[in-house]
Amino acid sequence: MAEVAINSCSWLKTHRVNFLKALASSRVPHASLFSGVKGVGKKLLVEQFADTLLCQSPVNSQGLIEPCGHCKSCTLRMAGHHPDRLTVSANDKGTITVDLVRVVIDKLSQAAHQSGNRVVLIELAEKMNVNAANALLKTLEEPMPGTYFMLTSEAPSQLLPTILSRCQHIPVAATEADITDWLSSQRIPADKSVIAMFHGAPFAVKSFLASDEFSVFEQLRDQYKKWWRGEEQALGQMKQLVSKEPVSRIDWLLHLVALHALSAKGSNVTGLNAWYDQLVTCRKLLSQSGINQMLQIEKSFQFGEQLTSGTIKQA
Ligand SMILES: [Zn+2]
Repeated sequence: MAEVAINSCSWLKTHRVNFLKALASSRVPHASLFSGVKGVGKKLLVEQFADTLLCQSPVNSQGLIEPCGHCKSCTLRMAGHHPDRLTVSANDKGTITVDLVRVVIDKLSQAAHQSGNRVVLIELAEKMNVNAANALLKTLEEPMPGTYFMLTSEAPSQLLPTILSRCQHIPVAATEADITDWLSSQRIPADKSVIAMFHGAPFAVKSFLASDEFSVFEQLRDQYKKWWRGEEQALGQMKQLVSKEPVSRIDWLLHLVALHALSAKGSNVTGLNAWYDQLVTCRKLLSQSGINQMLQIEKSFQFGEQLTSGTIKQA
């Protein structure tokens, strides 16, 4: 993520323009919540806003603003220990506890170290338990001049309504066209079905396309097409590929079936939708402990076999 140039991310531009306007008119919200799927660039955006607020002489260029990268504040931040840039993230158990929030609140009760702004980044705010959220709420209810809270969330509906009501909510999203353009600007061939699989998350798409898993996904997709054209043995190949990494690869199959159902006709749609539902159940079971994963995979592929050999015929 750190290597991504924010200027190349067209879907973040509106947010950056709005931020500049807010900064220019001294109306940056005291608390903001940036929501969106994993891999859409929330962190990139929030960190740039935080770093700009801390920078002593931000650079304004063509309607956008960014930290200078040279001042004392930027130097401290780039060295990884700016005392007025506070981050809260979940512990090993995936929870933001009240103690983690209190550490930050205690620091805020002291004066800012660099006699400038202070920024508190709360990563995946939905990980806060009730006590943590209530502790934060008290602080949000009493805004401190020059202190900015920036929360990110993949699941804002899980946040307490009282927290939500204290934050300016900024949904971050990328369209399929944004992702296609962004990839092509980096000379990465856009793969439509992968773009659709990652539901508007450009960074997730990019890293998947660059991974070894992508070539396995391509094999699965090829076998799927062969199978639907009538090459029955291709289903066995698909099963082999999925069996090697059932938990993640069952998602690929789900995705291929969903895309196929969208373009299929008549009774095929019913059959594919039924298979899709069965795969959703299978996926849930696979993530449980003590499950015989191979047995579940076997069942899913038996369902697939019935699709081509049973009442449902090819289009
Ligand atoms: Zn600076």
